Amino acid sequence: MGRFEGRVAVITGAARGIGNGCARRFVEEGARVAVLDLDEAAASQAAQELGEGHLGICCDVSDSAAVDAAVERVVAELGGLHILVNNAGVTRDNLLFKMSEDDWDLVMGVHLKGAFLMTRAAQRHFVPQRYGKIVNLSSVSALGNRGQANYAAAKMGVQGFTRTLGIELGPYGVNANAIAPGFIATEMTDATAARLGVPVEELRARTAERNPVRRVGFPEDIAAAAAFLCSDEASYITGQTLYVDGGAKLVS
Ligand code: NAP
Repeated sequence: MGRFEGRVAVITGAARGIGNGCARRFVEEGARVAVLDLDEAAASQAAQELGEGHLGICCDVSDSAAVDAAVERVVAELGGLHILVNNAGVTRDNLLFKMSEDDWDLVMGVHLKGAFLMTRAAQRHFVPQRYGKIVNLSSVSALGNRGQANYAAAKMGVQGFTRTLGIELGPYGVNANAIAPGFIATEMTDATAARLGVPVEELRARTAERNPVRRVGFPEDIAAAAAFLCSDEASYITGQTLYVDGGAKLVS
């Protein structure tokens, strides 16, 4: 029997990339999954690809009314809520002096406000049932990264948010942890290659060369960590940030 048999998981930004990798892993281990994403067609298609009994919902995580409606729909249609993965993300990279207010606000809105709104909606179900698992996506960029003042601030904010969730929700049987990935091969890092004017394969190869384990990461690497942190085996772990980066943080 899978670790998530009888569990319902909501994963934001799960139409592709890391969120999609998490969705697949949770389904493999028995969960019913709601894929939340900005793009309605992509959310529905991703849910269909997961198999029978999953749900795709169009939801902008920075929109309070949309978030509340999506969470209520998940509970009504999938019969409960036990796991939340706050994964939806965007980048709007630029050096500080060229960064617009819109680029700052968008990145804060999706990563920080989005995680806040989703978590506030989910805890309405977690607390009364005395059970819930939350994983928030941070990043090695939280430690500082040229051209990412907005993203780094948001991702370090996610770590402080996670620690506070650990304190506030622990007494109610809810664990909250963050994962800080290093370079993961997704459309997000493909876009970085495009911005730098470097072919995707070249950026991946260069990144792998500098990494202690000599490879880049894949969505499955993050999904494995998320599955552990959302399992009952990890019930004494809360408020932590786990760097899943092949050791990149150690050498940067
Ligand atoms: P990705 O491939 O760009 O996927 C992000 C997903 O989030 C997309 O499906 C996107 O939908 C969705 N999304 C964006 N804004 C949204 C919103 N307001 N509401 C709902 N969904 C929204 O990114 P990824 O690489 O898988 O990254 C996933 C998470 O890991 C992000 O939080 C990212 O910051 C973090 N992370 C990634 C890396 C990496 O190397 N890839 C490293 C560290 C941390 P649309 O396609 O419709 O825009």
